[in-house]
Amino acid sequence: MKIITAVKGMQDMLPGDAEKWKFVETICKNNAQLHGFSEIRTPVVESTELFLRGVGETTDVVQKEMYTFEDRGARSITLRPEMTAGAVRAAIEHGLIRDSLPVKVFYIASCYRAEKPQAGRLREFHQFGVEMFGTSAPQADADVISIAREVIDDLGIDNVSLELNSIGCKECRSEYHVKLREYFRANEDRLCETCKSRLERNPMRILDCKSPVCQGICEHAPLMIDSICPDCREHFEGVKSCLDAMDIEYSINPKIVRGLDYYTRTVFEFVSKDIGAQSTVCGGGRYDGLFEEVGGPKMPSLGFAMGLERILLTMEAQGIEFPPHDPPLLYLAPVGKAATALCAKIAREIRMSGVTAEYDMVGRSVKAQMKYADKIGVLYTVVIGDDEIAAGTAKLKNMEDGEAEEIQIDAIADRVCEIGIGGSFGRLTELLEGFSAMGNLAEIAGAEENPLDLTGLLDFEDKE
Ligand SMILES: [Zn+2]
Ligand SMILES: [Zn+2]
Repeated sequence: MKIITAVKGMQDMLPGDAEKWKFVETICKNNAQLHGFSEIRTPVVESTELFLRGVGETTDVVQKEMYTFEDRGARSITLRPEMTAGAVRAAIEHGLIRDSLPVKVFYIASCYRAEKPQAGRLREFHQFGVEMFGTSAPQADADVISIAREVIDDLGIDNVSLELNSIGCKECRSEYHVKLREYFRANEDRLCETCKSRLERNPMRILDCKSPVCQGICEHAPLMIDSICPDCREHFEGVKSCLDAMDIEYSINPKIVRGLDYYTRTVFEFVSKDIGAQSTVCGGGRYDGLFEEVGGPKMPSLGFAMGLERILLTMEAQGIEFPPHDPPLLYLAPVGKAATALCAKIAREIRMSGVTAEYDMVGRSVKAQMKYADKIGVLYTVVIGDDEIAAGTAKLKNMEDGEAEEIQIDAIADRVCEIGIGGSFGRLTELLEGFSAMGNLAEIAGAEENPLDLTGLLDFEDKE
């Protein structure tokens, strides 16, 4: 029979890779939480209407890239091409914005676009993003930008620079559109077909065109940043001075317009020079009019989305090492039925203390079990057969140095848990990862010398 493969443009995250993803996600989550953002999860599917209104009918995303389906003839639904519209919809629907403002949410989610698959651009892709609803203050823009900066820095990624622009508000932008149309009309016959159609509806998108001829024409086009109104100017200055205060470097790039219609005022991109043409790893900005577009109240807001595939590509291109995956601490090799049941019991006791343990799941010979234990890189093994059960003792073997210690079978679980917690294996390690990702490495390093204190510090007991 024909082998079934994954759908084109959609990628499996296999064991090994999935741990890399988890590491990146942990850093994202922790930084968002440090800024007081809470996680939001919205459905993969939304009404098509939401994206028509919330992303913009003239955008490439809506015109060419959405996966839209008829839901059994009843209505049109779409796989989310981005997360902002859904988060805004949820905030309105559940009245989140009736409570004290701003509402601050983050997400790590899969999104879907019918693009031509290429490196770093898949049909199912993943984004980390934050949204702040209900503030027009410039420090909000700087705070949101600083989350992305911290994530990129914490991941150890170099050579990613922040580029900043202001694309003004509704008022000053309509004046700019007039100037821009005038400029492009003079060159209209040379513009590509897409840009010709953009000329009336959304001339700013021409600035984003990838065609070399259009790019050439754009070179001398008037810039939005030169046309913004005094209010927008003051806001932009506020964002910049807040970034200066936080020591976050940026350059002004008047060419950034972002692909989606809903942006206003601040727009920004984090640009990597290490993964070729697809260089934007994070993009975002203000969308002061979006809530009204989808039927909500006036609610100035902003956010960003970070492409996690591109983040991982950049990390790989830069040879950044991911934290090693901890091997299981103990492998129990039973011989016979009675021993298998005993190993099951011991393994369960160990795991309930938060330490990893495995035993034979196949019914292999001792020799084959040892080969397996070696392959999974286990740190300790113990063989239990009829002789060991009769004697009540077994040999706990350290796989690193080959040393074996005679141990009471009854005492295996306690002994292994002692090693496990002291050496920080198992679930405790995951908690530790969370802490170190939050930048408390020094504290952890101090606490590691005293594992019992550490257990208290992490409230390990309470979590059970
Ligand atoms: Zn303005
Ligand atoms: Zn064009």
